[in-house]
Amino acid sequence: METGFTPDKECARKLDAEDSLGKFRERFYLHEGELYMDGNSLGLCSRDAERGVLRVLEEWKTRGIGCWSEPEVPLFTFHDHLAEMTAPLLGAAAEEVTIHANTTLNIHTCVATFYAPEKGRDKILVDNVNFPTDLYAVEGQIKLKGLDPGVCMKSVESRDGMLLQEGDILEAMTEDVALILLPSVLYRSGQLLDMALITREAKSRGIPIGWDLSHSIGAVPHRFDEIKPDFAVWCNYKYLNGGPGTPAGLYINKKHFHLPSGLPGWHGNRYETQFQLKNNFEKADYAGGWQTGTQSVISMGAIEGSLGIYRDAGIENLRKKSLRLTSYLMYLIEAKLAKYGFTIANPREDSRRGGHVALVHEEALRINEALKAAKVIPDFRYPNVIRLAPVPLYVSFRDVYELVKRIEDIMEHKKYEKFEKKIGLIA
Ligand SMILES: *Cc1c(COP(=O)(O)O)cnc(C)c1O
Repeated sequence: METGFTPDKECARKLDAEDSLGKFRERFYLHEGELYMDGNSLGLCSRDAERGVLRVLEEWKTRGIGCWSEPEVPLFTFHDHLAEMTAPLLGAAAEEVTIHANTTLNIHTCVATFYAPEKGRDKILVDNVNFPTDLYAVEGQIKLKGLDPGVCMKSVESRDGMLLQEGDILEAMTEDVALILLPSVLYRSGQLLDMALITREAKSRGIPIGWDLSHSIGAVPHRFDEIKPDFAVWCNYKYLNGGPGTPAGLYINKKHFHLPSGLPGWHGNRYETQFQLKNNFEKADYAGGWQTGTQSVISMGAIEGSLGIYRDAGIENLRKKSLRLTSYLMYLIEAKLAKYGFTIANPREDSRRGGHVALVHEEALRINEALKAAKVIPDFRYPNVIRLAPVPLYVSFRDVYELVKRIEDIMEHKKYEKFEKKIGLIA
């Protein structure tokens, strides 16, 4: 973790002056006076994403049904175009990537594809601090096989409710495990797991492994060409700024292209015979074979715009700035906020953390409400975590400085005390 910061505003000014990515901020719709620290939950809208949506809309407006096939980037194969733009973020080949549905459904199709329970080898290894939808999907898939999730779901338990120990995960990879699904970055604590080590160990035991990258894609570079997991899923609306409800992502390692899709549908058919509309499904020989039905292409226009920003900024540069922003934030928390009872729940080492800082306080729920009243957009995760994501594309070091100042003001004057301890529909 970087050190050498000072607690004064001059330090923030200096860090901004050294920041070569500062100019990307202008491409986003920021809200006057507001500090947006929630880009890990819903990334902000950019002018590029807006243009992407309008471009797709224009194709529909001007061409009618011709929009599927006539444009330079035909809307019918738009997911292939996005796969090409996404692949560098994963270090994967474009043919190993497809954009499809939502993360939950992509977990369903991957588990249905890779889970082949046998007697004595019928468990799916998960963890108890993953985002719950992942667990619901795994549970549902186990039931569809006529098995009991109480028996077939094996969960690695976090020792403190926040972090996972890689050693505990490796120990749980026993002979009865048929499949592994884990998050790359834990959504609450921000811990980045050692994906290379865990994937290597799973392979050496012959267990297929998939990763949920929802909290790492667009924040942390991935080298799938080196670690070669079996599959991965992610959403495009968090760090990737693809907009609310935009389709998600799916990676299938090329050695598995021959496998049948767990949820087959006509959009997974080979293009050559798709419109022959035959009753026998001919699965396409790449990740696109895992497509199901017609996609929400207008939403996908936003992903196109947003991925263009990633191409221009470079994921390695973004990671460097993100680590610097979060190091600076942690420094200021310790220098100015520790006295109010705050602690930091994410690991400190750069190699073990994602893009957000997990700030812990017993009054987190009410402090979170007070922050919103002070025009800071963080989010609260039950029971005591405030997540702060200074996203490198649109958050400056001065914003981080100002953020800590606003928290300090809330604590010093106990402004949180006037809020109720009640959790809203969207926390
Ligand atoms: C955000 C997130 C999801 C979201 O799933 P959707 O089906 O796209 O709503 C799933 N899993 C994890 C780990 C997440 O962080």
